[in-house]
Amino acid sequence: MAGKIYFIGAGPGDPELITIKGKRLIEEADVIIYAGSLVNPEILRNTKLSAVIHDSAYLNLDEVIGIIKEAVDKGLRTVRVHTGDPAVYGAIREQMDRLDGLGIEYEVIPGVSSFLAAAAVLKKEYTLPDVSQTVILTRMEGRTPMPPKEKLIDLAKHNSTMVIFLSIGFIEEMCSTLISGGYDPKTPVAVVYKATWPDQKIVIGDLTDIARKVKEERIEKTALTVVGGFLGNEYGLSKLYDKYFTTGYRKGAERE
Ligand code: SAH
Repeated sequence: MAGKIYFIGAGPGDPELITIKGKRLIEEADVIIYAGSLVNPEILRNTKLSAVIHDSAYLNLDEVIGIIKEAVDKGLRTVRVHTGDPAVYGAIREQMDRLDGLGIEYEVIPGVSSFLAAAAVLKKEYTLPDVSQTVILTRMEGRTPMPPKEKLIDLAKHNSTMVIFLSIGFIEEMCSTLISGGYDPKTPVAVVYKATWPDQKIVIGDLTDIARKVKEERIEKTALTVVGGFLGNEYGLSKLYDKYFTTGYRKGAERE
């Protein structure tokens, strides 16, 4: 394994929601760089006693790459641990490109993204027949600008299921923009704070009252806002399990 580094998705919080492969690689690692502000430290419970652990919250990109390069040069087993899945707001691409430039090999081990953990703890399905068959993952503009064709107001017109990351601090503006963009003000909304952590909170409302409820709960970070009719109770049944519907595996019953 020396000479290669592993990017690992640590999952949303619950230390059992990491892949078996990710867990093993962390336990075997000599050098660990992890996103301390979001990764549950419990994930690092069974590391080697000699493992050197760096919190990337204190590091810039050059420093992260410097630590990886030095470790790989010394033949140390190195892992870079991201929250959720690294492919979603993980800033993983810029690291991979730098490693390509240095000729350092890497592999990515996926994780359970927080947006999937949120559906699990809400006990909902994002893609309900007749309600929404599309999920938009997005964020509000912060210091990272939004590309001009991806403004929230434009995305809202689809009335699809929407999962909004990194934006809980702007929830009032978020809701008013979603209404201006075309969601019914009574569209259900859930805010999930620290999904699967021991201090998880779930706040349920609609576009007119969720902001107030979130403020009352003092939720200011590490939360997802999920929006859409999928949170309601009206939908069509699936074709897949329809008893009259023939699939590749099963012949549908005759209608009487
Ligand atoms: N790669 C991560 C997302 C990193 S961006 C993933 O796949 O989940 C950080 C944002 O993700 C936070 O601002 C918050 O919006 C969301 N987030 C991360 N972990 C969360 C959790 N356990 N519960 C709710 N939201 C979470």
